[in-house]
Amino acid sequence: MTDQTHPLTLYNSLTRQKEQFIPQDPSRVTMYNCGPTVYSYAHIGNARAAVVADVLFRVLRHIYGEEAVVYARNITDVDDRIIQSSKETGLPISEITEKYARIYNEDLAALNCLAPTHQPHATKHIGDMIEMISDLIEKGNAYESDGHVFFDVSTYEAYGKLSGNTLDALRGGDRVGEGEVARKKNAADFVLWKPELHGVGWDAPFGRGRPGWHIECSAMAKATLTQDLDTDVIDIHCGGVDLKFPHHENEIAQSCCGNDEEKFANYWVHNEFLNMGSEKMSKSLGNVTLVHDLLKEWDGEVIRLALLKAHYRSELSWSEDLLRESKKNLDSWYRTLTSHPSIGSKIWSEQPAPIELKEDMRAKALFEDLNLKEYLKAVAWFDEDARRSNAGLYSSAGQYLGPNEEELLFVNGQSGINQKYEKFLGALQLLGFLKKSPEAWSKGNTSSDDQSKFDAIAKRRQEARAAKDWAAADAARDEATALGIVLEDGPNGTSWRKT
Ligand SMILES: [Zn+2]
Repeated sequence: MTDQTHPLTLYNSLTRQKEQFIPQDPSRVTMYNCGPTVYSYAHIGNARAAVVADVLFRVLRHIYGEEAVVYARNITDVDDRIIQSSKETGLPISEITEKYARIYNEDLAALNCLAPTHQPHATKHIGDMIEMISDLIEKGNAYESDGHVFFDVSTYEAYGKLSGNTLDALRGGDRVGEGEVARKKNAADFVLWKPELHGVGWDAPFGRGRPGWHIECSAMAKATLTQDLDTDVIDIHCGGVDLKFPHHENEIAQSCCGNDEEKFANYWVHNEFLNMGSEKMSKSLGNVTLVHDLLKEWDGEVIRLALLKAHYRSELSWSEDLLRESKKNLDSWYRTLTSHPSIGSKIWSEQPAPIELKEDMRAKALFEDLNLKEYLKAVAWFDEDARRSNAGLYSSAGQYLGPNEEELLFVNGQSGINQKYEKFLGALQLLGFLKKSPEAWSKGNTSSDDQSKFDAIAKRRQEARAAKDWAAADAARDEATALGIVLEDGPNGTSWRKT
């Protein structure tokens, strides 16, 4: 499916304005996201960047077709911290990197992030990096110095354009350390290649060594996204705002000079920081929250929704309340599915009916720079809890205008808008929610012993109601409440869910 007229707009960090998104080739939309350095667990700030990119990936797939969007997210499996960790623990590097890459992927899968089309590992693309570095030396954009190769920023006029951060640029910002300054022509020059560390290195024309971090992404983006194309410009590059400088700035310099292109990516999409209340999350403050730990207490969908509660370009204050509120929203959406089983079975069928969000005026908010927060507000009237207070009309931008007759009719019990329900629930599923069955959701992570206990209480209430023994029915309900579950009487009998 090709759609050049789609209203999707994105805030482009490069031009500092919202722009209509127009891919170079709608049948092959390319997107790159900087992946993790795999030497420890991912924290919740890393997860925000991955979930935001996942929403963008899903929206693009919805617009251009699943096969048309090519998304690459790398694994950095060579890095000083990895080598250091290997030296300290005595474990082989591959054991460390494979373990944390696997955990990263499992954690993101639990947050319902789709696997990217390509997940290149840096160590598998050393040859591509060496080739790109040789090319940059040949063109005069890079130089060798004392076993290192540096990119000469003075040869790239547009350096600093993305970050606009020329003062910081002058200070330099690579991961080499202060000792390297003496080897550089300009303070802002950054390293492309450095000598081997603790015996870790690869042979290259400019000496045995290992790549700098920035060159990895330039080489892997080219290898996975534009290798066979006429252009080396990718459509979208995303990532956390913390990577804008120096990492993304340096990626641009290397790729533009190496590929003889004016741009590396047409659109740069950066998500803002996540903070812990008013404090920034940092290891020194001891307030680093790991996704892996959160998943022991909260369902991945709850964490996903909590991460999307603020617009991606706003800072997100992370808190327990945010998780609780997200859990409540999801409980309500899943209950909506329970009360509309025909729709539920439809959206989980092998081939769900295609949902065309473009026709839904509420989705306009979503297509305006991924305003998911506004979109969820706009569709909130479907939400059982919000329905009574929120039923109303929405402007084309998704703003609440006032009550809508059709919606009031619905609130008064009239049916006939199942289709709209389907759209709402289908849209949530498209955005990575409602992936479980309502039953699995309501039972949470309950042990099988508890499950049989709760099943027995529900059965007792069902039988008591059938026998019109109201005292026994009440007793069963009270027992359930004391155990932290809720009994629900429905046409198919009494069921239970966790509160
Ligand atoms: Zn990168």
